[in-house]
Amino acid sequence: MVMTTQILEGISLRNSTIERLSTKIKLLSVQPTLAVIQIGNLADSTAFIKAKKAFGDKIGARVTHTILPDKIKMDGVVALIKKLNADSSVQGILVQLPLPSHLDKHTIIDTIDPKKDVDGLTSTHTQELWEDGSDIILPATARGILALLDHYNIQVEGKKVVVVGRSTLVGKPTAIALLNRNATVIICHRGTENLKEETRRADILIVAIGKAKFINKDFVRSGQVVIDVGINITSESKPRQEVGKKSFVGDVDFEEVSKIVSAISPVPGGVGAMTVASLFENLLDIVEK
Ligand code: NAD
Repeated sequence: MVMTTQILEGISLRNSTIERLSTKIKLLSVQPTLAVIQIGNLADSTAFIKAKKAFGDKIGARVTHTILPDKIKMDGVVALIKKLNADSSVQGILVQLPLPSHLDKHTIIDTIDPKKDVDGLTSTHTQELWEDGSDIILPATARGILALLDHYNIQVEGKKVVVVGRSTLVGKPTAIALLNRNATVIICHRGTENLKEETRRADILIVAIGKAKFINKDFVRSGQVVIDVGINITSESKPRQEVGKKSFVGDVDFEEVSKIVSAISPVPGGVGAMTVASLFENLLDIVEK
């Protein structure tokens, strides 16, 4: 019997999300507005913001983009956030991470009015998530992962989920969101002993470590669902790649792992495709409150 591996495509789901959100926005009396603050000019941040603007354009949301100099002091950033907090034409505020090292990330994020915290990173929303409260705004990548699992009817309740990576942005919120959905969750990280043993135990393996093709055939077994969150720039060229465009690979060795497991999300076209869509789902949730 030939086993086929299910590819968990984020692109078709993102396209249907675009249609659904644009239909919703047409019916609103206000145009949803997301204010993005960039500090400095990191090329990756600029590219991520460009993707957000493009998505906003597609669904009819407004995205404003303010670039502050990378030497700016805390009070300059805090003043801008307070101004946006008070601006009733802005429903969502996002500070693009990472920040220059002289700035205090926690103070900056916590200056955002929780009602406009589209990234779900303020203490208020972190606490809501921790307590499985009724007012959770889930960070976009975590929401994108759940959307992908739901779309493919992959049950999480009662399943053993191993999350590799414990960042505040991805690993931790994803793990807690799955715990809130009654999964049995193990979080692994740099200090985990016998990582291969842990990952092979999973029914659902979620990898967010930022190491190209790190998870290979030795880390998986048949029957697993593998979600690859990693986005790593590679010099490998890919079929149909546009000249001059960067190429990306995940944290999972797709060629090897896809021959073994039951389902896997590709990179690109998996979780990454869902993350921006999920950010705008958060914005629409805020607008509709
Ligand atoms: P991070 O650097 O903040 O955290 C990495 C985590 O991985 C840490 O907790 C660390 O302990 C763990 N780790 C690193 N090496 C490890 C190893 N050898 N074994 C076990 N654990 C290890 O990274 P992040 O912000 O969480 O991002 C992770 C990856 O996900 C990156 O490739 C990033 O580009 C990608 N990412 C993708 C999306 C998306 O939309 N698809 C969104 C955000 C981040």
